[in-house]
Amino acid sequence: MNVHLRSLGCRLNQAEMDALGRKLAQRGLLVTGDPAQAGQIVVNTCSVTREAGADSRALVRELARRAPAASITVTGCHAELAPQEMQSLPNVRKVVGNLENESIAGLLDGPAPDTRSPAAGRTATRTRAFVKVQDGCDHACTFCVTTLARGPGRSRPLAEILAEVRQLRSLDYQEVVLSGVQLGSYGHDLGMKQGLATLLRALLSETDFPRLRLSSLEPWDLTPDFHGLWRDARLCRHLHLPLQSGSSATLRRMRRRCSPEEFSVLLRDFRRNVPHMSITTDVMVGFPGEDEEEFETSKAFISGQPLAGLHVFRYSPRPGTPAARMRPQIRESTKKERSAQLRSLAESLARAYAREIEGQTQEVLWEQVAGATPEGFVNVGYTDTWMRVRAIHPLPLSNRITAARLGTFLDGEIQATPIL
Ligand code: SF4
Repeated sequence: MNVHLRSLGCRLNQAEMDALGRKLAQRGLLVTGDPAQAGQIVVNTCSVTREAGADSRALVRELARRAPAASITVTGCHAELAPQEMQSLPNVRKVVGNLENESIAGLLDGPAPDTRSPAAGRTATRTRAFVKVQDGCDHACTFCVTTLARGPGRSRPLAEILAEVRQLRSLDYQEVVLSGVQLGSYGHDLGMKQGLATLLRALLSETDFPRLRLSSLEPWDLTPDFHGLWRDARLCRHLHLPLQSGSSATLRRMRRRCSPEEFSVLLRDFRRNVPHMSITTDVMVGFPGEDEEEFETSKAFISGQPLAGLHVFRYSPRPGTPAARMRPQIRESTKKERSAQLRSLAESLARAYAREIEGQTQEVLWEQVAGATPEGFVNVGYTDTWMRVRAIHPLPLSNRITAARLGTFLDGEIQATPIL
């Protein structure tokens, strides 16, 4: 019986669905991209905002319409926080909490697991593999529902991660992305000091993976000598460090553990030690109590940082979080207005970073062929600095890493020339 897998939200959700897909293929189950061809469907939901919860419900309803005979298993943060709501949706057979989601492979109908069968092949469209190394979080940022949905911080044993990464390398993946809820706390629960640095050193010294990438990291988890790891060029020069606000007053109410000043020192330290390091961040607007002055302070601080981009979020009150009870809550119209201002700031920061690296030669992992012209194939990929690039070349370059000369920045992409 074919299985269709869908994931909403963060890279951790994606990593969990990827790992499930490989387990199911090893069991001889076909993972299909078309829900209409599936008898079983698994949905990994998200609840980080009110909209994400609504999207999770809408996706389950849509899949039930497209595959009326299929049984749906729902997991992820919205399933954890609103199990009855998800159980009441059409075709939902099972709601599995985040702490039990490793058991989903065994819950699905199909041939018994046969560990002798070779590992599943690389899904042709994927060049980058997401690997979950950690789950849960021990912090309590006042707006955050993830820490409620995912539970306390817990790390996968290093040997297990190494084995999975080696398996992925044998499947010809070119890049592995380490993901977690609070990735920077990797190993804390295993008694490891600087656990994430230890894990990275092990992956760099004990595997020949061409590229290692880190997903989102809390800035306070980065120790001063962390940038030494980038002496190995296989470690991608991009960090996503959520700041959330450039106003100290707002950050205090968020119960964040990194001040704007500390963030600025960290940013400059990394950029001094890792040339052309690309650092992006998350910024929230409309947090309860964020008056005009706090917003202007936040915007002014962020516009003065050498960032390569921003993810802008409008604060969304989540049930069970302290911030949802705070007053005053900010009007949606004000949030929209502030979000628009920061999105245009985000564009100018990305343009400035693209100008900084224009004319350089960087490594690009080509991911897909987006079309063809009389001059050649339209190849699309990402630099190690996480800039999206496009190039026309006589050859399709999918799943290859080549040097490329970086040109101008257009519509969010850098026009590049592959050097083969
Ligand atoms: S550190 Fe991240 S996951 Fe943990 S509570 Fe804060 S925002 Fe949530």
